[in-house]
Amino acid sequence: MSIKKGLLFTALAALIACYFVFDLGQYFSLDYIKQQQSAFDALYQDNPALILGGFFGLYVLVTALSLPGAAIMTLAAGALFGFWIALVMVSFASSAGATLAFLASRFLFHDAVQSRFGERLKKLNEGVKKEGAFYLFTLRLVPVVPFFIINLVMGLTPIKARTFYWVSQVGMLAGTAVYVNVGTQLGQIDSLKGLLSVELIGAFVLLGIFPWIAKGIMARVQAGKVYKGWKKPKQFDRNLIVIGAGAAGLVSAYIAATVKAKVTLIEKHKMGGDCLNTGCVPSKALIKSARVAFNDKQAEKYGFEAINSRFRFSSMMERVQQVIEKIEPHDSVERYSELGVDCRQGEARFLSPWEVEIRNGDHVETLTARSIIIASGARPFVPPIPGIEDIDILTSDNLWQIEEQPKRLLVLGGGPIGCELAQTFARLGSEVTQIEMLPRLMIREDAEASEIVTRSLKESGVHVLTNHKAVRFSEENSEKVLLVEHDGKETALPFDQVLVAVGRKANTDGLGLDALQLPTETNGTIQTNDRLQSRYPNIYACGDVAGPYQFTHTAAHQAWYASVNALFGFLKSFKVDYRVIPWCTFTDPEVARVGVNEQEADEQGIEYDITRYGIDDLDRAIADSADLGYVKVLTAKGSDKILGVTIVGQHAGELISEYVLAMKHGLGLNKILGTIHIYPTMAEANKFAAGEWKKARKPEGLLRWVERIHNVRR
Ligand SMILES: Cc1cc2nc3c(=O)[nH]c(=O)nc-3n(C[C@H](O)[C@H](O)[C@H](O)COP(=O)(O)OP(=O)(O)OC[C@H]3O[C@@H](n4cnc5c(N)ncnc54)[C@H](O)[C@@H]3O)c2cc1C
Repeated sequence: MSIKKGLLFTALAALIACYFVFDLGQYFSLDYIKQQQSAFDALYQDNPALILGGFFGLYVLVTALSLPGAAIMTLAAGALFGFWIALVMVSFASSAGATLAFLASRFLFHDAVQSRFGERLKKLNEGVKKEGAFYLFTLRLVPVVPFFIINLVMGLTPIKARTFYWVSQVGMLAGTAVYVNVGTQLGQIDSLKGLLSVELIGAFVLLGIFPWIAKGIMARVQAGKVYKGWKKPKQFDRNLIVIGAGAAGLVSAYIAATVKAKVTLIEKHKMGGDCLNTGCVPSKALIKSARVAFNDKQAEKYGFEAINSRFRFSSMMERVQQVIEKIEPHDSVERYSELGVDCRQGEARFLSPWEVEIRNGDHVETLTARSIIIASGARPFVPPIPGIEDIDILTSDNLWQIEEQPKRLLVLGGGPIGCELAQTFARLGSEVTQIEMLPRLMIREDAEASEIVTRSLKESGVHVLTNHKAVRFSEENSEKVLLVEHDGKETALPFDQVLVAVGRKANTDGLGLDALQLPTETNGTIQTNDRLQSRYPNIYACGDVAGPYQFTHTAAHQAWYASVNALFGFLKSFKVDYRVIPWCTFTDPEVARVGVNEQEADEQGIEYDITRYGIDDLDRAIADSADLGYVKVLTAKGSDKILGVTIVGQHAGELISEYVLAMKHGLGLNKILGTIHIYPTMAEANKFAAGEWKKARKPEGLLRWVERIHNVRR
């Protein structure tokens, strides 16, 4: 910090300290001002300029130093000087004081904050540069964020001081008037009867409802800006249109129909979307077959001499389709029609923020709705690796149609889908090579979880290549090869089939979003606010197309918010609760997680204690020869509050539910420890992890005393 900054900082700190040391706050109380009102009135009559000037200066000082008291002074001004004089004076004094606080914050902290958090503040900075005045105006008009915080935080952003001053002055005027009015009314009370005067009650009611009125006005102004140029239909055919009948769309439509809204669900391909047709369901069905095959190979471990199971790959794939068919009725047009959903087959495209065109072959129709939910999902991302366009690649979209088992299979990608499928095909006997660019598989999870999964994949026969980058596909000696680079050296990997599983891309093409200018995130998902509204408040997005999580259960979770907000947002809307989100990767062993893990807690600067219980110690796991994995719990420092849990082991996806429930309802490890768990089950691992936590915190001093008592009593 430079000398100038140091001096200013010391002076400001000394002034603020004086306020508290000399208890100056007592002079900024309603009681004190009321007691002194007649004395002030007399002084004001004798020398109005001096009193007004003094009050103005004091007001500026209090606000510039961000001291408590500005609200009381505003009320006092109303009481002492009357409405109009007080309004003008407070309006100028508060804006001047706010600007001084803003400048001090900018001078002292702007450079340091921007250089330290510049990258993270990039979006805020860009937003402030683009719409800073409007944003500040909203904050000023809707007084939900305390006045002094706005002054200090705005000083850290790139907004111009001049803009800050005038926007503050204009934005705060209405709120100031409401406060001054209350002060004026309070100043006129001489008796208890005055407390019940219509004027005073009216002033307080206005004070209470002002933030809502201001918020409503700002929402209208903002909406007006966004919808400019579009013609809103006078009436709508539907309350809600939902685009896409995957998990997100189905749940949205279901909720809408349940609450008696007129809802249309549009699907261009298959009801059930990815999860049913190309995602969770087929993958879990094939994983099960592979597990059976693998168990047979492990037969000796369980006392058999050997089981030589033989299978036809095509029969396995038939079973996968049978599983899909069995679940299909849950997501069918028949079921949803019975529930009251108007189901349409066809491709949906926006014509305006309220109009959707449905195209099915030659048949085209247009529907209107007050609200629209985009639930169009995502598809496999195919990276632009040279030569890839000449190869018939496999992705999770077309994998389920193959009838012949790939002999040599390359799996590109070390994420959950890549790991699940690499292990599955290896267990079924394919020669699988898995390629990951990063240093380890499943990079989002614990390093220890990655290590166990990698070991298990290798045991299943997968040739795991981390730190390997796919460079190009080509053909050598009439064989397909992928050239991979590792440590500056290129190696050719021959293969028969390649499965690309390097991530997913939101389905936004063909929806007509360009005309609406709906902004997307860098990963392609539609930008939404915390209520899942897009740039257009009546257009919502949920599920994979909205992110940030891309799971079936998060799609369904978001769907509740999207549909309820879309239908009832005019009364009340809800922010999506992302506090407790679980997920699981269904490798063997499974890796399940809820909340933060160590690496995320470190990145977010969260302080935590860590407790680990090894599943190799668990009776049931030993009995099942499944004694591999662990339960790792992160708790808040010095408490049993659970911040996050990772479980690696058989049935980890089921075991984690206990912790999900505990986190959701604020139950700590003591409660889990105090709950009876059936012996012998895998679920006991949860209790034993809590026991490890408790053991590490046993009261040693007290126990020494207890031991002495026992010694005496023997
Ligand atoms: C191999 C694999 C395994 C997975 N395993 C799991 C798992 O175990 N657990 C888990 O939670 N998640 C898993 N997932 C993820 C899960 O499948 C998705 O998160 C989930 O399906 C997302 O649902 P959604 O409704 O957002 O999108 P989708 O299910 O993709 O549905 C979107 C629908 O919109 C339709 N659509 C798109 N554009 C239009 C248009 N213009 N007009 C009309 N219709 C349109 C599409 O045809 C599609 O049916 C897996 C995914 C894959 C690929």
